[in-house]
Amino acid sequence: MVMLEVVAVPAFTDNYIWLIHDEESGETAVVDPGDAAPALAEAERRGWTIGEVWNTHWHGDHTGGNLAIKETTGARISGPKGRIPGCDVALTEGDEVHLGAHVGRVIEVPGHTLDHIALIFGDERIAFVGDTLFAMGCGRLFEGSPAQMYRSLQKLAELPEDMRLYCAHEYTLANARFAAHAEPANGAIAARLERVESMREAGEITLPTTVAQERETNPFVCSPNEEEFARRRAAKDSFRS
Ligand code: ZN
Ligand code: FE
Repeated sequence: MVMLEVVAVPAFTDNYIWLIHDEESGETAVVDPGDAAPALAEAERRGWTIGEVWNTHWHGDHTGGNLAIKETTGARISGPKGRIPGCDVALTEGDEVHLGAHVGRVIEVPGHTLDHIALIFGDERIAFVGDTLFAMGCGRLFEGSPAQMYRSLQKLAELPEDMRLYCAHEYTLANARFAAHAEPANGAIAARLERVESMREAGEITLPTTVAQERETNPFVCSPNEEEFARRRAAKDSFRS
């Protein structure tokens, strides 16, 4: 099976819209198109037609382009049940999305929002995790409890080590600075902070990350329990780097 091609489309200040293309079938999907124009333009530039829209959660910076893409290409929209604009297929735990012969499994990861899901392509070792897990960080708790988010992060951290995680924002540098502050004795964090600093100075994307890297350097994933997770999440909310 030919691998999927995944392309980052920057949007707004720090969002990434992910375009996924399957060469074999010629099918293309887009994950979390907060803005239609850049996603449609990048697809067109590559000669791809977006046939599937997959949303990880209802926030406007992830769904704002849904309707315009549907209008332009006739794409089908799949996402968690409830508040997804133009939703055709409601997804819950254990459901699947398909792109040619590739299968993405849906897991529920509440915390940032209650409806948040992630899409796991096990064979390809590719996962779309929205605003749940970020490189060296995690999403803010807008709707869920610390316990829910902690459990969701553990679910993602239990995926195979070489799973590549595609997050929806470029927050890595700010997260790395907080991580270094939260775990000053962690050499892997210090080393990654340095790498991330030079990548951002060079204007490079710091994603995808991997499960292995997050297990080592993500202070939220590495929290020993819910209480410590809640403490760190609150500390991050008021941290100024
Ligand atoms: Zn969000
Ligand atoms: Fe977001």
